Amino acid sequence: MTARTVAEKLVSSGTLSKTEILVLLQTDTEDEFLRQAAREKAHSVFGNTIYLRGLVEISSFCKNDCYYCGLRCSAEAERYRLSTEDIFAACAAGYEEGIRTFVLQGGEDGYFTDDRVCTILSALKAKFPDAAITLSLGERSRESYARLREAGADRYLLRHETANAAHYGKLHPPNMQLASRMECLRNLKALGYQVGAGFMVGSPYQTPETVAEDLLFLQEFRPHMIGIGPFIPQSKTPFAQMPAGSLSLTLKLLTVLRLMHPRVLLPATTALATLAEDGREQGILSGANVVMPNLSPPKVRGKYAIYDNKAFETIDTVRRKIADIGYEIKNVRGDYK
Ligand code: SAH
Repeated sequence: MTARTVAEKLVSSGTLSKTEILVLLQTDTEDEFLRQAAREKAHSVFGNTIYLRGLVEISSFCKNDCYYCGLRCSAEAERYRLSTEDIFAACAAGYEEGIRTFVLQGGEDGYFTDDRVCTILSALKAKFPDAAITLSLGERSRESYARLREAGADRYLLRHETANAAHYGKLHPPNMQLASRMECLRNLKALGYQVGAGFMVGSPYQTPETVAEDLLFLQEFRPHMIGIGPFIPQSKTPFAQMPAGSLSLTLKLLTVLRLMHPRVLLPATTALATLAEDGREQGILSGANVVMPNLSPPKVRGKYAIYDNKAFETIDTVRRKIADIGYEIKNVRGDYK
């Protein structure tokens, strides 16, 4: 089995076995071929349209202690939470700019009870009826996810982080378990959310085997959205000295994911834009079709420090850079079809 045979199988069938994935991961000879094919695949589904998601980072408080994340409870960090008014103002500003999906993301902050999040959701839905709302608030009970869904949440992002339980255990403290993450993902799907899973590229202790397991998990789970971006060390975490994930592997995995999931909503993430000046654009040229500009108010900028040197760009800059590579942002919700 040559790398070219595997690459051709991926392009024609969209599925690979673990052995085949490992063949592709162990060579870069097919990268350009795959990239071209992924770009064409994305084009056949989305044309040259890119969807925007406005990210509102609602809280930097977190009860968890994930080893990679700068919001971990034992990291020294400036904590904040946005008021309902702040969240509203951020979304209204984004709406003016044409954004029709708001992503409310935060650490696992007990302040944001179901009641509080439901109040925010109902009010946002009333004010912006043609916008989708995505939540990214970590693990919650099935009842909680159900209530939030009824109150208007359309989508939920919860990266699985790694599909390998031993690897999961090296990234998280013992009170966090891959099994509960997976249960949350299944619950979200059963409740009718459009669900996003995903993982960091080049996270500490990641191997080609664990990446292959991530891809197999995604092949089986079939999420509506897949978030991947390079791991970037954060100076206040135990992984401060670990190397960042690579641009080339992130781009390659975007191409493979696009070929495996033609219709999936696949962002070129901020972490990718942080790693390289043109990271976001390269992500789009590798099959990504979503970008997530930051709508958090200026007063909290820099305080949602999940990793160091997080890129920040205005929507205007993002729009221009995307136009420069021949793509066009559309002011639509951009649901999974
Ligand atoms: N509390 C929410 C949001 C977490 S931040 C949740 O648990 O889902 C969103 C994502 O950022 C995480 O899922 C993780 O994959 C990513 N992330 C965290 N720390 C990172 C780092 N140091 N480098 C790159 N990505 C990171």
